[in-house]
Amino acid sequence: MKDTGMIRSLDSLGRIVVPVEIRMTRNIDIGDPIEFFILNEEIIVLRKYTSTECTFCRSLDHVTYFKDQFICNNCLKELGDPGLVSDVAEQPASPVEDNSALLRGGRRTKTEEMSQRLEKAIADHPYANQKELAEVLGISQARVSQLKRKINAAGR
Ligand SMILES: [Zn+2]
Repeated sequence: MKDTGMIRSLDSLGRIVVPVEIRMTRNIDIGDPIEFFILNEEIIVLRKYTSTECTFCRSLDHVTYFKDQFICNNCLKELGDPGLVSDVAEQPASPVEDNSALLRGGRRTKTEEMSQRLEKAIADHPYANQKELAEVLGISQARVSQLKRKINAAGR
């Protein structure tokens, strides 16, 4: 344990000031909750309290700890949604991506692949709505409607 050499007195209400140097180096802001641990007879340890709620939606159910953050199952699933991932991957093609596409012999992008699968699914199920098509392809309804717009635009 490192001795900071900093000493603070309790005030009349039993409060103690956490020295600003410690607050700055430990990223503790005014209003942050602080947790107390009892180490032994003499030593009490203070720690910035990290709640176990999901970083994204504040849910407390089925929360997983990952790289210093808590993430719930639902948000984890959304993060891992292949539809979302390929959306990110095809943002206005960066030079790096262009190169990698060339290296792979101009391999089709995920979107083109999925568009063709969607066109086939529509041909196979002409009366299916977007929800049903989404289920057939294993993607989200939003993704289906996005792909449909792309297909329609390409057909013009
Ligand atoms: Zn969440």
